[in-house]
Amino acid sequence: MHKVNSIEDLAIFTGKPVFDNQLFVGRPNIGNRERFLERVNDILDRRWLTNDGRYVQEFERKLENLLGVKHCIVTCNATIALEIVIRALGMEGEVIVPSFTFIATAHALQWQQITPVFCDIEADTHCIDPARIEKLITPRTTGIIGVHLWGRPCDIGALEEITRRRSLKLLFDAAHAFGSFYKGKMIGNFGYAEVFSFHATKFVHTFEGGAIVTNDSRLAERLRLMKNFGFRGYDDVVSVGTNGKMSEISAVMGLTSLESMDEFIAANHANYLSYKKHCAGIPGIKLLSYDHLEKPNYQHIVVEVHESQAGIGRDTLVEILHAENVIARRYFYPGCHAMEPYKSLFPEARRRLPNTEAVAARVVSLPTGPTIGEQEIAVIGEIIRFAVGNAGEIKKRIQKR
Ligand SMILES: *Cc1c(COP(=O)(O)O)cnc(C)c1O
Repeated sequence: MHKVNSIEDLAIFTGKPVFDNQLFVGRPNIGNRERFLERVNDILDRRWLTNDGRYVQEFERKLENLLGVKHCIVTCNATIALEIVIRALGMEGEVIVPSFTFIATAHALQWQQITPVFCDIEADTHCIDPARIEKLITPRTTGIIGVHLWGRPCDIGALEEITRRRSLKLLFDAAHAFGSFYKGKMIGNFGYAEVFSFHATKFVHTFEGGAIVTNDSRLAERLRLMKNFGFRGYDDVVSVGTNGKMSEISAVMGLTSLESMDEFIAANHANYLSYKKHCAGIPGIKLLSYDHLEKPNYQHIVVEVHESQAGIGRDTLVEILHAENVIARRYFYPGCHAMEPYKSLFPEARRRLPNTEAVAARVVSLPTGPTIGEQEIAVIGEIIRFAVGNAGEIKKRIQKR
């Protein structure tokens, strides 16, 4: 690793990155490899690879205990989980969702002919703004999906109040919020149900996977049927269903991952503190704070680049970082409403969502996880500080390229 002391050292000009290897956002956590492989051997010995196997059941019971919920139904991924629970709840017509989220939140509705109605976010929390929901409710509205973005609980209390008063269904996309708390209770206990993702990029994962958790026993029974083609017994199909099952190999990665969950959180917490230290006082660079939250999982390092103070825009900074092998990501640019099919369906949405537009234009997600630490973060901080400190000169040089 070399130091970035002058503009001549920046890899966008030299082609020589500070880091020899690429640092990724969402690089998978592995946990205890021996324990995982032991369990994989057991799966092969037992020749029970999927269909509600013993490891899927063990994973579900462990999740129920950890989260303090009555029912956990694991699935092949969180997108199918959302589709299943949306259908099981009888949502139809229009459902209100934030646009600043991963595209799957919107697609899970549109896939089954339900219109996602995009609501703006709060500029400081990046979560759905409850104050803007009421205006979006029409006679066709059947529900709201809140997203706990970056693992920060959205304003659950306000959403509960609106949905109760207007007789709407409340569901949460909790893909980022595994292990997070809201008012002393773990995420997973709110609304009719909450959905977690265990995709490989999430800090606890099952390669591909997801889970629906609920305290509603009748809903849980419907979900179990729906995720298994509607089968009640060996040859008794009682409703329409799909294949939402999780395989045994995914479940054992989940169990192994759970055993290291505290270590993953500790590593991400330490990284968050390092970023805070090394980005402190850089004009226009604002690290999204988790300090006021009850027990964040710290899986995302989110930075806002305010160009008016930083002198450099988010996209230029991302370009500089990528050249240095820091593969920062523009999550969730440009927002669901600005991607197809929603862009064509709702051409007016851009004007209705000023905070989403502004936040999507300034947010960057930086690498974290147990494979990086203080040393790398100090260098990343140095690059960002240098880029902001020399913004004018860098921009001139970029134009001349
Ligand atoms: C990852 C993610 C999903 C989708 O999860 P999959 O398991 O990949 O289907 C949904 N919503 C949000 C907010 C996500 O980040």
